[in-house]
Amino acid sequence: MGKVTGFKEFERQDESNAPVKDRVKNYKEFTIPLSEAEITKQGSRCMDCGIPFCHSGCPLGNLIPDFNHMVHQGEWQKASWLLHSTNNFPEFTGRLCPAPCEKSCVLGIIEPPVSIENIEKQIVERAFQEGWIKPHPPKTRTGKTVAVVGSGPAGLAAAQQLNRAGHTVTVFERDDEVGGLLRYGIPNFKLEKHIIDRRIDILKAEGITFKVNVNVGINYSTEELKKFDAVVLCGGATERRSLPTPGIDADGVVQAMDFLTQQTKVLYGKEVKDQVLATDKHVIVIGGGDTGSDCIGTSNRQGAKSVTNFEIMPKPPGHRSPTTPWPFWPLQLKTSSSHEEGVERNWLINTKEFVKDENGKLTALKTVNVEWKMVPGQRPQLVEVEGTEKTWPCDLALLALGFTGPESTIADQLGIVKDERSNYKAEHGKFQTNIPNIFTAGDMRRGQSLIVWAISEGREAARQVDIFLMGKSDLPSKDIAGDLVAL
Ligand SMILES: Cc1cc2nc3c(=O)[nH]c(=O)nc-3n(C[C@H](O)[C@H](O)[C@H](O)COP(=O)(O)OP(=O)(O)OC[C@H]3O[C@@H](n4cnc5c(N)ncnc54)[C@H](O)[C@@H]3O)c2cc1C
Ligand code: SF4
Repeated sequence: MGKVTGFKEFERQDESNAPVKDRVKNYKEFTIPLSEAEITKQGSRCMDCGIPFCHSGCPLGNLIPDFNHMVHQGEWQKASWLLHSTNNFPEFTGRLCPAPCEKSCVLGIIEPPVSIENIEKQIVERAFQEGWIKPHPPKTRTGKTVAVVGSGPAGLAAAQQLNRAGHTVTVFERDDEVGGLLRYGIPNFKLEKHIIDRRIDILKAEGITFKVNVNVGINYSTEELKKFDAVVLCGGATERRSLPTPGIDADGVVQAMDFLTQQTKVLYGKEVKDQVLATDKHVIVIGGGDTGSDCIGTSNRQGAKSVTNFEIMPKPPGHRSPTTPWPFWPLQLKTSSSHEEGVERNWLINTKEFVKDENGKLTALKTVNVEWKMVPGQRPQLVEVEGTEKTWPCDLALLALGFTGPESTIADQLGIVKDERSNYKAEHGKFQTNIPNIFTAGDMRRGQSLIVWAISEGREAARQVDIFLMGKSDLPSKDIAGDLVAL
């Protein structure tokens, strides 16, 4: 335990952010880390409560009270070893995880919870600075080959675990860079891309082969996958949702992912023809999730005239709703750093028409306010509120409506069964598709989710692949400690 009275003595402190006026001038990360003295105090707030609900809150089963304790004791290297024993990439989760662990922290019942995510970030950043994170190639090779399709967090975690087990791993990625949504979905101001590169360098030095610009099923035959002893499909859930609304084809209605990807590519110095820009435009972002928030932050950085956000659901309560009591993930209003940078947020609003001029250019959005009518035994019904029609001037509408599921090319070509939500079907815990040597993990299996879940599924799937290939596995699982927790 950090300090018996730590939680009574010290208040929660979070990282601070650079002022809005400064940070919107560029695309860099803008958090200001806590001092070492402060973060050790934060570690001491952990009560070591006996039944750490944070363990089950974290999909990776991170050993949170233990690393909190180590940070408080100044045992940073030990803390890094422990953190990496359950999480391949704490530098991603430490920046981007919504931290369900903190929502189930026992201290959170009476006080602000322990700042677990920030402690995680400080541990891994310290470890990189000190040079403690080194490649650990396996001592022996099994002679088995594994193909991983997709290099998002699920594919990367699966690849690193399988390589640790001694298998020869090739990762195929259709983009020109490795990283999945970490690379081209999530903007630089949330995750600078050198953070991905330094980890990929470690994976390469451990012996993993990466092949980019390889689109399996398109420019690389799925037949070729049959040469591998096992395959792990981690292609994500990339089918974008659209709106069946008149005028959707107007010039100026753009999918959020196109908008975000283009900006990241430009920052890389890559050529982007006719980049969609929010500069001097009235921007409306349709969709209130993480992707919508990232579009708001990017639009403000590009110098939008105004940024407005529409969400069809009701505004969540400012505090944890009684329908989601502790230790569950709370239904609660989320205000991101991008929201703080400037946006007008509207809830319970539906787009009825994208208005365009004679040249097909978007000029406005027509909306109506809505209500959700609850009828016992039926699904909630969307009802328009009479007399609430409104027209909003708009030059750029960004569709941030989520994803409907994975693309079906690989499933169609290989005969892989999908579930009723169009995800690649494999039981959680087994991760094996209807084709015995083909496994699947991450968003491709569970639908659009979170980085922490992708890493967790990648790790667990790797263990199942190892068992399939070798009859047993020393790789750890969330519930089973293994020997191969290298670092
Ligand atoms: C804009 C945005 C912001 C987000 N912000 C957050 C956040 O702040 N926190 C958080 O926890 N989660 C966030 N998420 C969700 C998170 O990024 C995903 O849940 C996570 O990346 C899923 O990981 P994955 O490895 O399963 O798939 P992905 O990251 O989608 O990676 C799949 C990879 O497979 C590749 N691929 C697909 N098909 C093929 C093929 N046939 N051949 C070769 N390669 C292929 C794709 O190009 C891609 O690189 C965000 C998502 C978006 C879109
Ligand atoms: S990965 Fe996410 S849920 Fe797990 S300890 Fe870190 S912040 Fe918490």
